Order: sequence, then structure tokens, then C-alpha cells
Amino acid sequence: MNSDLEELYQEVILDHSRRPRNFGELPDAGVRVHGDNPSCGDEIHLAVKFGADGAVEDIRFTGQGCAISQASASLMTMKLKGKSRAEATLLLRAFQDLVTSDVAAAPPSLGDLRLLRGVRKFPQRVKCAILSWRAFEQALQTPSGEAAISTEADS
Ligand code: ZN
Repeated sequence: MNSDLEELYQEVILDHSRRPRNFGELPDAGVRVHGDNPSCGDEIHLAVKFGADGAVEDIRFTGQGCAISQASASLMTMKLKGKSRAEATLLLRAFQDLVTSDVAAAPPSLGDLRLLRGVRKFPQRVKCAILSWRAFEQALQTPSGEAAISTEADS
């Protein structure tokens, strides 16, 4: 393992991948999105309960995949839970920028999610990190019911 990858698999990431937070079913979810990352084999089932005002009242996930995909989903649910729709949208954009562009400084609002910044150097890993966020982006666009996304289908 080279040093770039070591940096990527920091302790926080490994901890979240081994013991993902907000992992499990959400029976009263209004929206469910199935996300696939075929290039790595990662899968996520994201369940979101939006409040009447559009806030992220509750968010949980199940699924399986590599450490990066699971850690990103775990950190994402922690970060988004309780956020207004506007706040959640800003975090979504900030995370997408973090892992896909050469932003000079990661916004402090992303907290531990900034640790995933290292994936930028590895295009295949970007898909792993962004899978859960793509699923959430779809959830924002889905009034209710179920939807599906894939990292292989460009939006
Ligand atoms: Zn992966």
C-alpha cells in the first residue's frame, strides 16, 4: 500500500466502514433510493424521511461494499440528519466539489468527510465515495417512493 492510499484509509474511515452509523432499515421512510457502483461492486439502499418543510428528518442506509463506500455513507447520514433541504443541498455540492475538483480548501462544514478528499487521486475510488451522495441527490428529486441510480450512468 503506497502512502497516498494509507492517507486515504485513515482511522476514521476504517472505523466508519467497520461500524457504520445510521445503518439499518427506516420503516417510515418516504423515499428509498437504490444505488449501484458496478465498477467496485458497492451497493447502497438509502432511506430518507423528509419533514413537511423538506428537512432531512431521518436518514438510514443498508448495503455492502468497500470501506470507502460504507464510510462515506455513514459519514453522510451523520452529517445530513436534521439538516434543512437548503443546508443538505449545500453539503451535497460541497462534497461533490471536494472529491472531484482541486478545491484549495475543504469547507469546514464537511467535518470528517474532508478525510475522503484523498480519493481525488483515484478515479475509481471517487465513484465509491460519491455513491451514497448520488443516491441522496436522487432522493432530493424524488417526491416519494423508490428510485435507483448508478455511478455508471452519467446524469
Ligand atoms: Zn467501492
